[in-house]
Amino acid sequence: MAFDIDMIKKVYANMSERVDKAREIVGKPLTLSEKILYSHLWEGNPSKAFRRGKDYVDFAPDRIACQDATAQMALLQFMQAGKPKVAVPTTVHCDHLIQAKSGAVADLKVANTSSAEVFNFLESVSNKYGIGFWKPGAGIIHQVVLENYAFPGGMMIGTDSHTVNAGGLGMVAIGVGGADAVDVMAGMAWELKFPKLIGVKLTGNISGWTSAKDVILKVAGILTVKGGTGAIIEYFGEGAKNLSCTGKGTICNMGAEVGATTSTFGYDASMERYLRATDRNDVADAANAVKGYLTADPEVYANPEKYFDEIIEIDLNTLRPHLNGPFTPDLATPVGELGEKARANGWPMKVDWGLIGSCTNSSYEDLTRAASIAQQAVDKKIKPKSDFGINPGSEQIRFTAERDGLLQIFENLGATVFTNACGPCIGQWDRSDLKGDEKNTIVHSFNRNFSKRADGNPNTHAFVGSPEMVAAIAISGRLDFDPMNDTLINEDGQEVKLDEPLGIELPPKGFEVEDAGYLAPMEDGSGVVVKVDVKSERLQLLDPFTPIKPESLQGAKLLIKAFGKCTTDHISMAGPWLRFRGHLDNIANNTLIGAVNAFNKKTNFVKNQLTGEYVGVPDAQRAYKAAGIKTVVVGDHNYGEGSSREHAAMQPRHLGVAVVIVKSFARIHETNLKKQGMLGLTFANENDYDLIQEDDTFNFVDIKDFAPEKQITLELVHKDGSKDTIKLNHTYNQSQIEWFNEGSALNVIKRENAA
Ligand code: SF4
Repeated sequence: MAFDIDMIKKVYANMSERVDKAREIVGKPLTLSEKILYSHLWEGNPSKAFRRGKDYVDFAPDRIACQDATAQMALLQFMQAGKPKVAVPTTVHCDHLIQAKSGAVADLKVANTSSAEVFNFLESVSNKYGIGFWKPGAGIIHQVVLENYAFPGGMMIGTDSHTVNAGGLGMVAIGVGGADAVDVMAGMAWELKFPKLIGVKLTGNISGWTSAKDVILKVAGILTVKGGTGAIIEYFGEGAKNLSCTGKGTICNMGAEVGATTSTFGYDASMERYLRATDRNDVADAANAVKGYLTADPEVYANPEKYFDEIIEIDLNTLRPHLNGPFTPDLATPVGELGEKARANGWPMKVDWGLIGSCTNSSYEDLTRAASIAQQAVDKKIKPKSDFGINPGSEQIRFTAERDGLLQIFENLGATVFTNACGPCIGQWDRSDLKGDEKNTIVHSFNRNFSKRADGNPNTHAFVGSPEMVAAIAISGRLDFDPMNDTLINEDGQEVKLDEPLGIELPPKGFEVEDAGYLAPMEDGSGVVVKVDVKSERLQLLDPFTPIKPESLQGAKLLIKAFGKCTTDHISMAGPWLRFRGHLDNIANNTLIGAVNAFNKKTNFVKNQLTGEYVGVPDAQRAYKAAGIKTVVVGDHNYGEGSSREHAAMQPRHLGVAVVIVKSFARIHETNLKKQGMLGLTFANENDYDLIQEDDTFNFVDIKDFAPEKQITLELVHKDGSKDTIKLNHTYNQSQIEWFNEGSALNVIKRENAA
């Protein structure tokens, strides 16, 4: 599937020199995470030590992966860069836009019709620019990456937060926004704040009902959804070595649920076994040759408290199976204690669905462990009380599981096998058993369980567990079922108990697949024509942004003064708007509709200064645009927090917003504004936020002298003619000012490319 062994060998060839140099500069033994980071510096050999959690560093990732929902805007932008091919190996995976309803065959057919234009677009762009394309039904991005592309010691970025899954194979793999991916595709560096390091020492062995999933469910309970922010979690210890490679993948996958930059494990025998089983002997051999560089220096794990910023220790011998939820993945409860908690909180005890699979838990080991429980239901004549749904992570795993009779075991219980795609994990689930927004409970082996995440129903209480625990709970039909202690009554009226799950790490007959669903790009794609229907609702080719002229920043109007939290979701909502992610003008109709207007505390209700009427934010903005008037958005602290979605900058830019002035920015959003050629500024005195009035006109009087580290003067003209003059700060360096002067970072890349 075209993993690039030469590229991997090159990474390994550089590694020894760079890691040795870094160790010398840092002056102490290195963690695995540091080895990977220092061996992927954009500058090549390290020349200075970086401060964790402080320094911004340019990196050179080895790979990029994109999923279908985020790839659209990323590739539309890349098309503007004027490059004939992507600069680093890249793949696109069609997995998010496939609804789960009746079963794989029928559902895939529907998706191939309803999203045909998006899939065709992604396929032709991939073909043109040298990008590997995984068709709808080929599998979920992270499972496919683990099976084909991840390699120990590598660095990758992906336009999906669970890119971190590849840490299971010893990578530093990080989820990013499309704009970051475009930079790397275009041959530029990728910037990241040098992360802090959290060490998780695993002692003992998992056994019985406890699984790798329970490690991360426990860690989520300890760290909570924010505890990993800005940090890489590095797992080590005897317990880590005893976990399968795919089990490690599960743990890393859900590192996203504690906000971690990524998670990783040192190279070991389980990874070697997995590489060889997935037909990558040459990668395993190459990794074996540099083994010492693919794990931390021995002193680090001997005295971890000296080398990590935080240490967590988990004894796998005593770790109990958990179910986390509802509504948040960090609400961790050991199975057996959940009944009491559910009764106290009024959570529905009856379980309606058990869902197994997703990118988190669809390995061969996962399926065999869950199937060993499902088979007992048949053998012991227990009629399952819940419905079962299975989402295999890839066609390779599905084909192998079918060949080995695993899927049949679930089908014998009436399970529906959905497409090898995200389905219910991302709300792509047409659930027919509910009439309305009924309160109900489901259990699943996915990673996220936020309100509405699976089925759009805010009253669905979703609990996250291991596949085998999901199988047991679904068979019992009760949230308070504890298979380690409780019994069930079978169809003959006998009391029966489920035995512990039994799993097989890797298929004894090997993995097999007939058509993995991969399309390699043409060697020379220059002749490929990318077609986008001008009447399309979902796709729109981008026009380069034109530079914002300094003169247009005299007499600009206030669009909205946002009050309180204004995240990227407030600026560009997801949900039903997902379908427009590839059509900038259509998705722009949701611009800032979630932001609270500071003057009336309402959302999507702002004054159009041209008419005096109160209208929706996009309507007001389109009126200003039609009148040729630039506008300003004012915000509070940490404006643009949330995701790295570039739509939150592109949409306002497209509609004619020129400047965003806030008390403080979420850094990624600030960078996104810069990349789109806008002005992202902060109040020098944050109390000046209070000076902004609803009918204000803005004059950026010295914008012609825009320069690094030089404040900008803003004259505010109020409705009564009175004026205030304030100072604004910015963090633009000279090349970012060039982005502003030329309209966008992409315009600069294009010009440089043409030169
Ligand atoms: Fe994201 Fe779920 Fe798909 Fe994984 S299966 S990539 S978590 S939507």
